[in-house]
Amino acid sequence: MSIYGDKNSESPRKKSGASWCDDLNRSRKPGPHLSSDHELNNENHPATICVHAGSYSDPATGALGTPIFQNSTFLLNGGQYKAIEEGYARDRFIYTRYGNPNQWAVQEKISELEKAESSLVFSSGMAAISASVLGLVDKGAHIVTSLDLYGGTYNFFHQDLPSLGMQTSFVDPLDLKAIENAIRPETQLLYFEIISNPLLKVIDLIGLQKIAQKNNLRLVIDSTFASPINCLPLKFGADIVLHSASKYLNGHSDLIAGTASGSRKLMDRIWQRLLNFGGCLDPHACFLLERGLKTLALRMRAHNENSKAVADYLSIHPQISKVFYPLLETNKDYNSTKDLLKGAGGMVTFNLKGGDNAALKLARSLNLFKEATSLGGVESLISLPFNTSHASMTEEQRQRMGITSGCVRLSVGVENKNDLLRDLENGILAATK
Ligand SMILES: *Cc1c(COP(=O)(O)O)cnc(C)c1O
Repeated sequence: MSIYGDKNSESPRKKSGASWCDDLNRSRKPGPHLSSDHELNNENHPATICVHAGSYSDPATGALGTPIFQNSTFLLNGGQYKAIEEGYARDRFIYTRYGNPNQWAVQEKISELEKAESSLVFSSGMAAISASVLGLVDKGAHIVTSLDLYGGTYNFFHQDLPSLGMQTSFVDPLDLKAIENAIRPETQLLYFEIISNPLLKVIDLIGLQKIAQKNNLRLVIDSTFASPINCLPLKFGADIVLHSASKYLNGHSDLIAGTASGSRKLMDRIWQRLLNFGGCLDPHACFLLERGLKTLALRMRAHNENSKAVADYLSIHPQISKVFYPLLETNKDYNSTKDLLKGAGGMVTFNLKGGDNAALKLARSLNLFKEATSLGGVESLISLPFNTSHASMTEEQRQRMGITSGCVRLSVGVENKNDLLRDLENGILAATK
């Protein structure tokens, strides 16, 4: 017997001819919510939301904060059978792949931060991306996306979607004309990253939203590099905002997770894909993610301040030929970027004179910046695109993308600013003497 009961029984879902998740005409409430006294208070500052939203105190024990519900299944009662039968299984606890209190606590916190009706938490950023994209397009669909996507996302679009009968065009994310020109009659989705890797180009979200609206396309934004503290893509008209929660949302480089947020209607569709592809997040990882989220606003303030100090320092350093940073006052699009981003996040990219050899020496000379890929954790990291994210390309291909020899990417952490600057000063001296 399926979780939805006997195949032959009549249910409203079957009468409508569509699964209730996919039925976009069904009326819906935001959520699901863990606490019955939930009330969305739009006046709360993000720092307050980070601490309080979604967190659940156990009424039986009075334990403060969400306990870990490390269980795969839940007692079935009349209410749950009814939910299954009538098509609101997403609003009841039945089985942890379908939903679990620890998942709901995280989802509610993210929803309040992103100003979304509903959110889902996944076992990785890639699980969130693949389930979301496949939840929003049909067979035969065409997608327009960026030339310089996150590698995993590029591989998903490039390798997996064609075998499912979908095509993707990859265009310069800053060239709105090229984006419009790439749209075909069968285009259904625009997919872009808020800030590109590694050159930290910031998209024109307002321009993209206009294109999406004009052409009746869904707009999906991977906002991993910004976090909901620095940008709220849904407020700018995006339909879905995605995160690799492995980065800023969790913030401690100790778990892999992803999130998706948007209207309840679209999130129900994506929930169906989560069920079928199986990328649910384990309750214990949810607990860790919820704990990390409590300090998101505090951490982002430190990332924003430290990265600005590092970018300013590198901008006037004689051994640095170029700095890529979204909020440098000398950037020609500084004013429009400032309208989009409250802070730049922790990423700073720069070109070191002396090329990739000097960059390697720098990576090995630093003490506080650790040589590792990924980003968004409390600890500062250094990585070089030529031997990590862009290692599969030739030097010429990288050059064409603007990634020159000597390109260094920093994920600036939350350590003391002056300690980080001193470490860079000493490292650059050792690498270029
Ligand atoms: C890391 C990352 C992903 C993938 O997330 P995982 O949690 O590693 O699956 C997707 N998009 C961006 C921008 C990322 O940085």
